[in-house]
Parts: sequence; C-alpha cells; structure tokens
Amino acid sequence: MHSTHPARPRALVIGASMAGLFATALLHKAGWSVDLFERSDVELFGRGAGIVTHGELLDALVESGADIERLGVAIKDRIAIDQSDNVLEHLDYHQIVTSWDRLHQSMRATIPDGHHHLGCNLVSIDQRDDGVTAHFSNGRQEHADLLIAADGYRSGIRGMVMPSVQPIYAGYVIWRGVADEAAIPASARDTIFDKFAFFLPPNNKIIGYPIPGLDHALDVGRRRYNWVWYRPVAPRTLETMLVDEQGNHHPVSIPPPLVRQELIDELKDAARRQLPPSFSDTLAVIERPFFTPIYDLFSPKMVFGRIALIGDAASVGRPHIGMGVAKAASDAQVLAHALGNRALSIDDALAHFEKERLVEGRMAFERGRTLGEYLLANEASEHAADDAHWREFHSVTGILRNTASSDFLKAL
Ligand SMILES: Cc1cc2nc3c(=O)[nH]c(=O)nc-3n(C[C@H](O)[C@H](O)[C@H](O)COP(=O)(O)OP(=O)(O)OC[C@H]3O[C@@H](n4cnc5c(N)ncnc54)[C@H](O)[C@@H]3O)c2cc1C
Repeated sequence: MHSTHPARPRALVIGASMAGLFATALLHKAGWSVDLFERSDVELFGRGAGIVTHGELLDALVESGADIERLGVAIKDRIAIDQSDNVLEHLDYHQIVTSWDRLHQSMRATIPDGHHHLGCNLVSIDQRDDGVTAHFSNGRQEHADLLIAADGYRSGIRGMVMPSVQPIYAGYVIWRGVADEAAIPASARDTIFDKFAFFLPPNNKIIGYPIPGLDHALDVGRRRYNWVWYRPVAPRTLETMLVDEQGNHHPVSIPPPLVRQELIDELKDAARRQLPPSFSDTLAVIERPFFTPIYDLFSPKMVFGRIALIGDAASVGRPHIGMGVAKAASDAQVLAHALGNRALSIDDALAHFEKERLVEGRMAFERGRTLGEYLLANEASEHAADDAHWREFHSVTGILRNTASSDFLKAL
C-alpha cells in the first residue's frame, strides 16, 4: 500500500455519460485534477429516454453543483389498468420523472470545457504501481494517478482487466419510445398521461410516465410520454432482430435508428391487438420506437490497481429498478469521498470504495433480476410456490410498489 498522496493528484475519467460526468464533477470538488474523455465526436444527446429519479440521485446532483430547478415532471400516482383502460389498482407514490437529456444538460454544465474532451477513444492502458498511462486512437497519451472506467456495460476497459465478465442476455427486450403530449389522443391522455401507468398481462410489462419536452419544457401540452413494453424474445429470434435493413448484424444491441421498419410495424400491430387503447394509441403516434435487449452484468471486482470501474461498466441493475443513473452517481460519490480523504492513501481509498459499492451493486443487480422474473415466469418457476415472494414481485400490487423504487436499499 502506498502512503503518499500527491498534493493535487490527477484522474482520467473514460466515458462522458452519466457515470463519467458525476465522477468528474465530484472528484474535482474533492480537490483532484480531473479530465474526462469521450469517444463520441459530438456532445452526447438523446441517450435512452425517461429517467426516474430517487433521493440518492437528487443528493448526488446537488453535491455535484448541478441545477435541479424544474428537473422533471412531479407525478403523484401509480395506476394499473386493464385491457379496457379501467383502473384496477391505484397507489399514492410521489416521484420526479425526467429525461436523460435533461439530466445530461445539468451535469454537463458542471464540467469546464477545458476538462471535457470529445473524440478521444481509449484503446489501451499501461499501468504502474502508482499510476496509469492512457492511449487514445487519435495518438493522444495521458498520465495520471488513477483511471476511472465509466465506459458503460460493454466496457472495453473491463474487457482488459476482467475479460471473463460479459453481459448475459436475460431473455427479453425492452421496446421504448416517446410521444409528444399534444399528439396523444385525448382519451389516452386522460387515462394515463400524468400517471406512472402499468398494464400487466402475463409475461409482459407495459409501463409509461410523463417526462419533460424536447426543450426540457414542463408546461402542459409540451411534455412527452415515455412508453415502454418489456417483451420476452427467444435468443434465436433476438439474433434476427439485431439485423438492420442492409443485412448487417449488430452484436449485443442495435442502434435505435437501425431497427427494421417491419419490426416496428409488428410491434404496433401487436399493440393494437393486445394492449389497452391508451397504451396502443400512444404508441401509434411514436414514429420510431426502438428496442434494447436486457442483459445481466456483475463484476465481482471494481478496482484493479489504479483502475476503478463505476456505473454500468461495473454492474447493471435491470431497468425495472430504474436506478442505473442513481447507482452510477452513488459510485462516483463514494469514490470521490474516499479519494478526497487525505488521511487515506489512494490505494486504501480505492479499497474502501470497492468494499462499499460492491454491496449496493450486488443488491441492485439482484433486485433487478427478481423484478424481471415476471417476464419469464411460469408455473414451474422457482418461486411459484412461495406465496410471499409471489405477492411481492408477481402481483399487480407488488409490481406497482417495487418498480422503480429504491426502498430495497433501506436494508443496508
Ligand atoms: C432501457 C433502459 C432503461 C433505463 N431506464 C433507466 C431509468 O429509468 N433510470 C435510471 O437511472 N437508469 C435507467 N437506465 C440505466 C441508465 O441509462 C445507465 O445505467 C446510466 O446511463 C449509467 O450509464 P454509464 O454512464 O455507466 O454508461 P453509458 O451511459 O453506457 O456511457 C458510457 C460512455 O462511455 C463512452 N465510451 C465507451 N467506450 C469508450 C472508450 N473506449 N473511450 C472513450 N469513451 C468510451 C460511450 O461512448 C458512452 O458515452 C436504463 C437503461 C436502459 C437500457
């Protein structure tokens, strides 16, 4: 273990999405010199769609110095509806729901341009006992005391240090899209728009909630509705869905604009036949819904010498928990607090970070899988005979209460 702590240590953060932005902002506040590198040539925009917020996320935003005024739409109700749009169950549940773009805008503003580098694709790392050298495909080289890998669930850096950890397909996909509030037929708007709404036929979850408009507008009429359908898809079928109009196969996941039109037509057709009018009419006004396969990923280590994995690079909680950004922010917070403690060496601070965050990462990972069981459940399922488990995670009441909730972390 190294006992020395340079006067102003330096960190390189790789990946300028949510985890990278939080790490850069918070580590800078902890007295480090930090530079953030993103392979995209242009500012990130439009990743994902809706993001559900939690106390943990709001706390990290405030600590980062991000502007959280008018952050999102405040919803008060969760409802489950039946095939005919009748409300089956209602739950009082107050939550702010926002968009990826709105969060990105707030966090991006916390990073000075001089420390935010686009067009920098990390290709290799040399590691010494007391630091790292990062090499980028444009020929750039950077030296630092620490490298933070915030490069997502397909992390190339994790591939270098822990190649055995790979995403494993969970057996279902999430179809998503956003509808302009003004374009949604009035009857659908009246039934679901200002609610966190659920339709739960066997092995399918359809959910939706309002989010800010494209320009982050919160005014009535200018917002959008985040529309989601989790559907089981056999691995072989998934392979065919990952082929674009040109016949190119995209391993793991296909970029949204490349999803074939025939798949979108099939989705809309299935929605007309299977979903309540409010959800199918809302989908009808979404021009290009897209799908993402759901993967499980958990790295049992987050620290490799002077390399630390955070956010989705370290582990992924399936989207049912709606906590990916909150988890990334908490990873960054714990890392920055430990590294800002000058009583600890950098290596001891990293050990502290790993010990604390592996526990919560494991809880988020397990909770996401448990909530996802509903998609593939049948009579022979492991927990079919366990009534308490069934009520908590397979009943309408349980799903309403546990989806996109961070309450399970209270057990910590
Ligand atoms: C369908 C779906 C719904 C979701 N819903 C929610 C929700 O409601 N609430 C929520 O909190 N979370 C949600 N999430 C999760 C959330 O989007 C992620 O957990 C969150 O964005 C954290 O991601 P990250 O920053 O770790 O990685 P990413 O967002 O994947 O970013 C990684 C970044 O690293 C960059 N990069 C990769 N390799 C390199 C390289 N070699 N060099 C330089 N840069 C590189 C990439 O370009 C990218 O910008 C959802 C996810 C999915 C898939």
